[in-house]
Amino acid sequence: MFLTDYVRSGDSKQWGALSLRTAVRWEKGIHTARSLRTWTRAFLTDRHELPLTPENTWTKSLLEKRPDLKEAIGEHLQSVGKYVRALDIVDFMALPANQVKYGLAKPISLSQAQVWMRHLDYRWTKTPNGQFVDGHERADVVEYRQSRFLPAIADYDHFARQWNKDGTEVSLPDDSPRPRNRRVIYWHHDESVFYAHDRRTRRWVHKSEKAVPRAKGEGASLMVADFVSAEHGWLRSPDGKESARVLFRPGKNRDGYFTHEEILAHATTAIDILSQHYPDEQHVFIFDNAPTHLKRAADALSARKMSLHPTKPGKPVFGVDQIPEFITNDANGNKHKRRVPMADGWFEGKPQSLYFEPGHPRAGVFKGMAQILTERGYNLTGLPRECTGFKCKPPALSCCVRRLLFNEPDFRDVETLLETHCRSRGFDIIYLPKFHCELNCIEQCWGFSKRKYREMPSSSAEADLERNVLAALDSIPLVTIRRFYTRAHRFMDAYRRGLNGKQAAWAAKKYHSHRVLPNNILEELDREGITSED
Ligand SMILES: [Zn+2]
Repeated sequence: MFLTDYVRSGDSKQWGALSLRTAVRWEKGIHTARSLRTWTRAFLTDRHELPLTPENTWTKSLLEKRPDLKEAIGEHLQSVGKYVRALDIVDFMALPANQVKYGLAKPISLSQAQVWMRHLDYRWTKTPNGQFVDGHERADVVEYRQSRFLPAIADYDHFARQWNKDGTEVSLPDDSPRPRNRRVIYWHHDESVFYAHDRRTRRWVHKSEKAVPRAKGEGASLMVADFVSAEHGWLRSPDGKESARVLFRPGKNRDGYFTHEEILAHATTAIDILSQHYPDEQHVFIFDNAPTHLKRAADALSARKMSLHPTKPGKPVFGVDQIPEFITNDANGNKHKRRVPMADGWFEGKPQSLYFEPGHPRAGVFKGMAQILTERGYNLTGLPRECTGFKCKPPALSCCVRRLLFNEPDFRDVETLLETHCRSRGFDIIYLPKFHCELNCIEQCWGFSKRKYREMPSSSAEADLERNVLAALDSIPLVTIRRFYTRAHRFMDAYRRGLNGKQAAWAAKKYHSHRVLPNNILEELDREGITSED
């Protein structure tokens, strides 16, 4: 309500006033208005890259004008380690080479660095003592990266091409464990926003920014969603007539984000083109961890709210409310929620109903976690229902009944709707670990295009915006895309060898022209004192 009002008002000065008006409508006061603004910002931050920008003095800061600087600082901070300080930016900018490169007459101040720090990336969260912690090295993120993402990529890599610096294929000794059959092609997906409003202040906003949305009419922007591969470049038919590229203008009839349905539709477009023109290759889509990509079926398995024992007589059925397709209209056209059963579990290759089967005295009644697990052969003697507040202590494998069920493969690996959608047509999909943009080479393609875009003649006409954006995107040579791909693989190689983010950033920089890191990289890190501790 508040956000809609704000966008309709077309006046960025109304941000505060409108939040209060919304709060008052709910019979709340200033405190709620403040919360509303925080929530709305959080909501915006949590979505994909933000197309809506604050108009403040910072807009014109150096960081804005130089996306390459933003990238360089981001990489430098990763090389510092898990804990970073704003002072690290001051030191980095004070290096003579950077003073020259970015045209500075004097070092930047600590307060400037603190402002930059907040705007740099969502992956750093500030601790009370003023340090920033890198989410990149969070235990759950690292666990996913090491035990799910990297092994999956390693499997595919047997069938994927790798590239030399000049973009030619690396001829690998044919000692792969399996015969080479279908060539694997990785397609990296992402969305990005280009701005045209004012050439001098045109900027692109990091997905993390604490942003006040730009009110309607305050300048054109163009959102691009696409897929790219090292093999073929942007996803299109060989004659270039069919393309998976989607363009739209945020702030016209819609906001600037892909909805879940649009992501599915986008995948369908890609699948249609690839099935028709590249049917002999095995295509793997790589998506990032955005919430719109991770949506699951409403009746998906979840152990969170299950009772230990079967539902008692007279109590409501255990299930899931509000699945849109099950909301029914009555004779008066009123909508009624319905509670529907949760989907079947899957155990030893067969479906397992969570409800007593027909013929059972309590047929149709929810079995409870204990019965579900007993049927799977578990002995639950002495196991508590759940650890307090379901906050189990690591490693949290079988400490309580709920955790045990939670960790069962069918509960843990519930397919996302996007996975189901792609797999139903024979296409694979992998999600990137959170905060690991260095593994998504399409991000660098956006960076390259945006630099090209800035060099183009200035114009505020929307038609020019679109033409320039398209020209900028198409200006990336295939050899450059292959270099970006190789760089992402170099980082993967580093993580596979057990390097942390800090070590990987150091090694990727030192060996920037290498496809893989040398075998003695760990000894070398040791010698250089690049520790695995922080
Ligand atoms: Zn537990």
